Amino acid sequence: MRVARTAAELDLVGEIGLVPTMGAFHEGHLSLLAAARAENDVVVASLFVNPAQFAEGEDPASYPRDEERDLQLADEAGVDVLFVPSAEEIYPPGFQTWVEVEQLGAILEGEHRPGHFRGVATVCLKLFNLVRPRRAYFGQKDAQQVAVVRRMVRDLDVPVEIRVLPTVRDADGLALSSRNALLSRDERERALALHRALEARDPSLLDGLEVDYFAEADFEPRVLAAAVRVGGTRLIDNVLVEGET
Ligand code: AMP
Repeated sequence: MRVARTAAELDLVGEIGLVPTMGAFHEGHLSLLAAARAENDVVVASLFVNPAQFAEGEDPASYPRDEERDLQLADEAGVDVLFVPSAEEIYPPGFQTWVEVEQLGAILEGEHRPGHFRGVATVCLKLFNLVRPRRAYFGQKDAQQVAVVRRMVRDLDVPVEIRVLPTVRDADGLALSSRNALLSRDERERALALHRALEARDPSLLDGLEVDYFAEADFEPRVLAAAVRVGGTRLIDNVLVEGET
């Protein structure tokens, strides 16, 4: 595996599968990497804690990071090139062009994290332009992100196929998330209510947690999605309204 820290170092040829991530890898990331490995000649993963997708008051510096471990896991997963750009590489001085997916980006997560999806859409378009993937891989865990990226790809005629993989969960139902590392043992126990409430379609199971939203949305497919705060950690999850999760 090669590590590229600048766009110039990417130097890619062949049919490429791209897995965009913020690192701190877990089995959810690994499922995307495995799918990309199975379906493409060349697998590129990006590891970039995108400052633009953190809303005001959120701190990118406190996002879990373990680059050394991620390098090892990416290598083991068969990644050919790991792209680890600096913030300056992605947003050089003078940067001022943004992608706004107006309606899909404004509801639910977008309402509670203003500017979040503008940051997501912009960095994804930049990654698509730099890497030129035939396919890009995303997790159903972030259902609204998938909807936003799909809409952008359609609206701006970006030549990439968006592939979506199911949410990977711990045995007790908690959706894997890099942020789970921030939970204390007690908080993790309380966080189990998130998936239970979604499965039961019963927001009262979230009593005692701070709930940002618990709502259905037609993200093709239709999902029931929720966001809660457990201690200082914000968690999201969703289940399909019809069919399997
Ligand atoms: P992140 O590093 O959290 O930005 O996630 C990178 C990609 O992994 C995104 O497409 C996420 O939707 C996906 N992902 C994160 N958690 C999971 C999970 N538990 N199951 C499946 N995909 C996931």
